[in-house]
Amino acid sequence: MITLSIIKADTGGFVGHSAVHPDMMAEARREVERAKDSGLLIDGAVASCGDDISLIMTHTYGCDAGLIHSFAWDTFQSTTHIAKELGLYGAGQDLLSDAFSGNLRGMGPGYAELEFEERPSEPVLCFLADKTEPGAWNLPLYKMFADPFNTAGLVIDEKMHAGFGFEVYDLYEEKRIIFDCPSDLYDMLMYIGAPARYVIHSIRSKTLDITAAATSTQRLSLIAGKYVGKDDPVMIVRCQSGLPAVGEALEPFAFSHTVGGCMRGSHHAPLMPVPLKQSHTSRFDGPPRVVALGFQVHEGKLIGPRDMFDDPAFDHARVQATEVMDYLRRHGPFEPHRLPLEDLEYTTMASLTKRLAHRWTSLTTEVATAPT
Ligand SMILES: [Mg+2]
Repeated sequence: MITLSIIKADTGGFVGHSAVHPDMMAEARREVERAKDSGLLIDGAVASCGDDISLIMTHTYGCDAGLIHSFAWDTFQSTTHIAKELGLYGAGQDLLSDAFSGNLRGMGPGYAELEFEERPSEPVLCFLADKTEPGAWNLPLYKMFADPFNTAGLVIDEKMHAGFGFEVYDLYEEKRIIFDCPSDLYDMLMYIGAPARYVIHSIRSKTLDITAAATSTQRLSLIAGKYVGKDDPVMIVRCQSGLPAVGEALEPFAFSHTVGGCMRGSHHAPLMPVPLKQSHTSRFDGPPRVVALGFQVHEGKLIGPRDMFDDPAFDHARVQATEVMDYLRRHGPFEPHRLPLEDLEYTTMASLTKRLAHRWTSLTTEVATAPT
């Protein structure tokens, strides 16, 4: 069995929240090389989407492994050190604790991990997104693994016809459920259509009995009085031979669906599929970006990556995202561009409530005390 882990963190932005400084990328690559030399990792690659560094690693320690998580933690400490030296924005912002303890759960960095028996040919897509949240994967995952208008294999591949099991988390109540699709499709859509709360964590093939996809949906953790964990997400999707073809797994992103995130984590905006070189967010800290890195995993080695959205076939989605961004931006501080009050990452509402309390008067009291 091998494990593929993507562990990511924002340890400082260059410039503002837009991208990662090349010196930080070089440091992360040095650390990954060292970990390969020491035998901790079979293989590793480093990539960035926006202001997040992703460590893409293969190893034999399984999911939630202390050794792997602490390696990532130490690497992010090193990149934070560089960010501080260069005065970069929000240096170390995703490292929420002073010391590492056991694994990364609730400590700030996000991670998606899959442990599997490598097939003779193992095509894998690693999706990295910036300026959005894990629920952003709900719609594309639904299309990949449950929508025959996206994925022809659901109809014409014997090994896919029985469908897939979707593991969904309720982030607020810390519960999970498995939806058996296609029979539970309509039930599941009621939940995953609300991606700020209900998020797909993993997907399993019913015929092959293997896990096909995993996202960086961690339980929300209350740290320093604030819920954390709704963070720029990553995702692993295994492809072909009874799982969606590579092209079926990429196809949902030809539609730039709207996600929560963008400026100050507090707006709806379209998710734009881009090649790595266009993954930095400059306009209104958006629109949110997604890159897809394709690998063939062979004897644990990461053969690749191929930059899958570096393809003119996604140009139209990029134009569509720009048009939708123009349309939503004209709403300024009004919903639905601005997120509903309860989902805002930043809010002045608490202080306003206090300051304006004496100026709000009850309509019912006024009626009752009106002079006769
Ligand atoms: Mg980010």
